[in-house]
Amino acid sequence: MKPFNNPIFVTRPLLPNLNDISEKMQQIWDAAWLTNNGKQHQKLESELMRVLKVPYLSLFNNGTIALMVALQSLNLSGEVIVTPFTFPATIHALSLCGIKPVFCDIHNDTMNINVAKIEELITSVTTGILGVHVFGMPCDVIGIQKISDKYGLKVVYDAAHAFCTEIDGTGIGTYGDITMFSFHATKLFHTVEGGALSFNDANLKLRCDLLKNFGIKNEDEVVAIGLNGKMNEVQAAIGLINLNYIESERQKRAKIIETYCENLGKIKGISFCMPGESVKKSFQYFVIRIDKNEFGLSRDKVYEKLKNYNIFARKYFYPLCSNYSCYKELISADKRKLPVANIVASETLSLPLYGALEVDEVLQICDIIKSFKK
Ligand SMILES: *Cc1c(COP(=O)(O)O)cnc(C)c1O
Repeated sequence: MKPFNNPIFVTRPLLPNLNDISEKMQQIWDAAWLTNNGKQHQKLESELMRVLKVPYLSLFNNGTIALMVALQSLNLSGEVIVTPFTFPATIHALSLCGIKPVFCDIHNDTMNINVAKIEELITSVTTGILGVHVFGMPCDVIGIQKISDKYGLKVVYDAAHAFCTEIDGTGIGTYGDITMFSFHATKLFHTVEGGALSFNDANLKLRCDLLKNFGIKNEDEVVAIGLNGKMNEVQAAIGLINLNYIESERQKRAKIIETYCENLGKIKGISFCMPGESVKKSFQYFVIRIDKNEFGLSRDKVYEKLKNYNIFARKYFYPLCSNYSCYKELISADKRKLPVANIVASETLSLPLYGALEVDEVLQICDIIKSFKK
């Protein structure tokens, strides 16, 4: 088995044609308007409402700031119930807003927050549930809605992995009170750095638009404690161009995932989870689980060995957020209370996935992984 000549990374950013970018930059220069809801910003907002099938949307300079503004706009405080199996930004956004994260164990198949475990974590100071559609797999949005209705809780979703995901034709960003999207360079759709919130309620959008611009209502009034969460014109312009590439990128990735599934699917000890037919997929990640006993080698060993072949997979999400030094003392962070999340975090491996990856290269990656089997 030969190593790759050049490193294969877990992802590569979508890089649109530079001439198209220059043309857009000329438009921005001609308008001499660089930020604060310019033409590119307005256009991207309306395009994304259509692509994501959401009634209202607000653009941000990144997903983390967007999430913080979402939490603030809903007046969340006290405790919010959240999955520990996510990117640090999800949990940090809560902490930075003065909210205590309460970790809930995850479901073994979907790797999302386990709805059956939420109710026992609700206390008199619980104000919301923060779900993450991990690797583009939708949370049990109906189950979460039932609990939030019963206890009067707000629901926020982190859909950083679920760009253009739909359930039976319904945009993922229409569930819960607010949904956050990230447009970071490593995500399927990007604006270099960027993000958005989607809403069903027009007033919530207005409130978040205010909060992302220092709380400035007009020339005479500043009515809230707001930060600077604005997306600028250069980011928005790159987003508008990237939108043209999304469908072809998704199709290339679908083919790559199919190749992975066909070639890794029969190997004992390797498994993966795919959303069902009713879900439109974003194809942002391809993540496998490695059962050490059945495969004969742990996830960590596979990860290390792949490097010898110039393949740089990623251990998403490891370490588990509840095991970070800043969170491990929380009562809900106790490993005995999060058995599934702790196992899943030790078994998952995100494999290279991006449109420019050749099918032959995918086959070679699969052969290399197969050669590790004991
Ligand atoms: C990328 C990501 C974020 C953070 O988004 P930024 O735009 O980088 O701030 C939050 N949550 C999850 C699950 C992510 O993957």
